Amino acid sequence: VMVSMAHLQEEKLRLQEELRGLQEKLTAQESDELSRSLQLQGQVETLKGKLLEQAQEISRLHSELGGTDAEKQRDLLAAENERLRQEMKVMEGELRELRWPLAPCQGCAHLQENAGLQERLSQLQREAEEMRARLAEVDLEVQQKTNRLAEVELRLKDSLAERAEEEERLSRRLRDSQETIASLKSQPQQIKYIIKTVEVESAKTKQALCESQSRNEYLQEQVGMQRQVLKEMEQQLQSSQKTAAQLRAQITMYEAELERAHGQMLEEMQAMEEEKNRAIEEAFSRAQVEMKAVHENLAGVRTNLLTLQPALRTLTHDYNSLKRQVRNFPLLLQETLRNARAEIGQAIEEVHNTNRELLRKYRRELQLRKKCHNELVRLKGNIRVFGRVRPITKEDGEGPEAASVVTFDADDDAVLHLLHKGKQVSFELDKVFPPQASQEEVFQEVQALVTSCIDGYNVCIFAYGQTGAGKTYTMEGTAANPGINQRALQLLFSEVRGKAVDWDYAISVSAAEIYNESLRDLLGKEPQEKLEIKLCPDGSGQLYVPGLTEFRVQSVEDINKVFEFGHVNRATECTNLNEHSSRSHALLIVTVRGLDRSTGLRTTGKLNLVDLAGSERVGRSGAEGSRLREAQHINKSLSALGDVIYALRSRQGHVPFRNSKLTYLLQDSLSGDSKTLMMVQVSPAEKNTSETLCSLKFAERVRSVELGPVSRKAELVSWPSQEQLEVTEGPPGDSPGTAAPPGRGHTSPSPGQLSSRSASIRRKLQTSG
Ligand code: ADP
Ligand code: MG
Repeated sequence: VMVSMAHLQEEKLRLQEELRGLQEKLTAQESDELSRSLQLQGQVETLKGKLLEQAQEISRLHSELGGTDAEKQRDLLAAENERLRQEMKVMEGELRELRWPLAPCQGCAHLQENAGLQERLSQLQREAEEMRARLAEVDLEVQQKTNRLAEVELRLKDSLAERAEEEERLSRRLRDSQETIASLKSQPQQIKYIIKTVEVESAKTKQALCESQSRNEYLQEQVGMQRQVLKEMEQQLQSSQKTAAQLRAQITMYEAELERAHGQMLEEMQAMEEEKNRAIEEAFSRAQVEMKAVHENLAGVRTNLLTLQPALRTLTHDYNSLKRQVRNFPLLLQETLRNARAEIGQAIEEVHNTNRELLRKYRRELQLRKKCHNELVRLKGNIRVFGRVRPITKEDGEGPEAASVVTFDADDDAVLHLLHKGKQVSFELDKVFPPQASQEEVFQEVQALVTSCIDGYNVCIFAYGQTGAGKTYTMEGTAANPGINQRALQLLFSEVRGKAVDWDYAISVSAAEIYNESLRDLLGKEPQEKLEIKLCPDGSGQLYVPGLTEFRVQSVEDINKVFEFGHVNRATECTNLNEHSSRSHALLIVTVRGLDRSTGLRTTGKLNLVDLAGSERVGRSGAEGSRLREAQHINKSLSALGDVIYALRSRQGHVPFRNSKLTYLLQDSLSGDSKTLMMVQVSPAEKNTSETLCSLKFAERVRSVELGPVSRKAELVSWPSQEQLEVTEGPPGDSPGTAAPPGRGHTSPSPGQLSSRSASIRRKLQTSG
């Protein structure tokens, strides 16, 4: 028993020890559980705080994401854009104003740019709108997440409550088990008591022992049960531990999830923030770039404006100067025109002067040539033919018949043209005097011939032409405008006076008329008396007219008296002087005799001034009686003159001087060294065309006649031979040697039966002689 007692004792100790260990373990577990729950509570607390923080953060972010910055930025941009638009508008206005005079600004690059910018701005605005929408979305998401978080929290709370319940249950059980343990502790004192009774009461002990043994068994059962309970409790603890671990894991999981969600949210938020920032930055940079571009454009426009302004200024300046020029242009033009006119005028004047000079030179050359020609003529001896056209007179009447048919060459004064039957016939003479030529001009061409008779040459000047062509006008002229006759005598006087130092000169004058082939002395006492032409008896071969009155003249007055006397004589002999004079040849014979006092040389020159009868062909118009006889005589004498000249020209051996009284009388003045001037007078009137034509043809024929070489007719020089003077046919009743040659001295006509007037003139002449 002792042993079993000891053993039981031992067992009892071991159990007590074991209980103590279990109790310790339980307290440890309890404290562990407590600390763990505390820890969990703390964790839950911190999580709650975090949640709150996050909610705050979310609200903050939400307020931040409310787009205030973006809006502000957008507003700023809009304001900036508005300002820029305004500025653009102003600029456009300015530009339009500037460009207005040039061209309307259509499709301008700036406008286009502005439109582009506006578009982009609206795009940006749209983008901002999108961003805002997205933000709202994100907000929604955040809200959802917050909701979920609240759910999770709620669940966490639930689980925490469960846990609290579990804990309570566990603590209750722990208390139960402690109570049990306490009851168990009170049991061993009973055992001690039993053992003591056993020890005291042995027999009884044995019974007691059995009882105790059963009691032990029961206890052992009880311990086993307790052990079971403990095991159960341990299992429960383990399961609660497991649940706690599970809960913990769940919490960590939730935490992780929360963290992940938070992270995700943060990430998303960051991403969104970044995106927003980027968008804003982008928009900003774009806006800046655009702004810069706009500014650049603006600057470009400004520079353009600045460059345009000087251009405009220069343009306006140019325009003004142009306007000024235009204003001044008429004046300038006038000035230039005036200058040009002046220049042209000057040039014309110069040309004119040059022309005049050339013409003058040409004329001079022509004159020189003519002079040379004349000189040649003088040396050779020739007949010169001049033409003189009288002006149209009142007597010509009016109408086409009185029209002029004669024209002249402006450059050649030797040519005249005659319009005959619609054709222009040209004639070349030695000189042509137009109607306007004065008596003086005509005489200038004659004076050399006149003066040559001072040197001893015989000279004949004939006036040829139809009646009324101006023969008498040329030879005699009028009192106011004297002709060749008077001018010749005046010239001779002055020339003689000039030579008076060495020479003695005597000038005497005879006047005769040949009518119907009979010669009459116009200065004689008996004008009706017919004079004969006779050869000089001295054998000189010279002819003379016995009885021909010769007046010595010394002054112009003397000449006038002689002419007057001759006229009076001629007039008294006929009933109509004009008619008579037209049918007779009137001769003024001037003889110049000179004596060189130092050498004794004598010269005699004869100047025959002949106003021929009218050359018109009367005979053809069926004239009868005396008219026919007159015409026949005139024709005969004029053709005889032509023949003689022709014979002389062609140097024929036989010159028919004696075919007419005129040629016979003028034989020694036509032949040899004589000089002849034929002044062919023509009328320019249309009605006289055929007569004019005849006269000019005669003139041309005569012009080409050449006389022999001119020699000075001096007494020391041998006279031409009889043959030369054509003396084979002597004049009837010619008795050479019987009469003294005329003109050798002063012939004094004896006073006769002249009219009282002519007698008185004669007397005057005699006194002057
Ligand atoms: P002719 O003697 O040939 O018959 P006139 O000499 O009698 O001709 O002239 C006829 C008219 O013409 C006259 O009245 C004359 O004065 C005039 N006459 C002729 N020639 C000229 C002239 N050159 N200038 C002016 N009148 C002239
Ligand atoms: Mg006449």
